[in-house]
Amino acid sequence: MELNPAQNYFSQLLNNRRPLLISGPCSAESEAQVLETAFSLKNTGIDLFRAGIWKPRSKPGTFEGIGEIGLQWLQRVQTEIGLPVSVEVATPQHIELALKYGIDVLWIGARTTVNPFVVQELAETLRGVDIPVMVKNPVNPDLALWAGALERFYNMGIRSLAAIHRGFSVLGENRYRNAPLWQIPIELKSRYKNLPLIVDPSHIGGRREHILPLTQQALDLDYDGLMVEVHPNPAVALSDAEQQLTPAAFAEMLNRLQVRTANC
Ligand code: PEP
Ligand code: MN
Repeated sequence: MELNPAQNYFSQLLNNRRPLLISGPCSAESEAQVLETAFSLKNTGIDLFRAGIWKPRSKPGTFEGIGEIGLQWLQRVQTEIGLPVSVEVATPQHIELALKYGIDVLWIGARTTVNPFVVQELAETLRGVDIPVMVKNPVNPDLALWAGALERFYNMGIRSLAAIHRGFSVLGENRYRNAPLWQIPIELKSRYKNLPLIVDPSHIGGRREHILPLTQQALDLDYDGLMVEVHPNPAVALSDAEQQLTPAAFAEMLNRLQVRTANC
């Protein structure tokens, strides 16, 4: 798999600014919540808005995503706020709907990356489609599975690829919701030299207070971007309430990060 930065949506954004900033709520919950979040984040200068429309929840009976109507809210984010938008897709039907509504970027969630049959089916649905795809690591610490998922999209012609590191589920009591195991994403990045690597400190940390230090660690390791969950009122969020930041806290975090400039 050879990635050419000139053909890669994420690398092109990185030419303008580093790190790449991706942010938005864990889940789209209401039209007002989506627009309010996007408006604040636009002012913070993010590159790409995120919101889950179909949510892979561990427990049945919890909020499983707002579904198709959320795609209309995201269209308003594009046209009225002027931000490109991304959603998680896990079935060919999700992809068809996302394409129908003109979603700019797709991402593959950790619970999907674990299954090569599903990844292959999604990749085949995208054969001949020119859309950027971000692939989260699988929930388990398996570098080959992550690399294999990226290659399945590459093999179907997707050239705008990025990897998202969201931590790994490991047994036992841990400081973080998902162990970072930094050596795995670093090895992935060294294997595919022009592959943009994005950290998702929200799902690694699982709690608000971990987001800043985890992001700083990733930047110190030369990550290319970050994806951070932001909600106007995290305490009442329908998913991942413990780890979402307010837009103001996110802006403050960005101010506190130390970003290295090239070659120093
Ligand atoms: C998410 O981004 O909200 C999500 C469900 O993440 P993950 O696939 O990393 O668990
Ligand atoms: Mn989430």
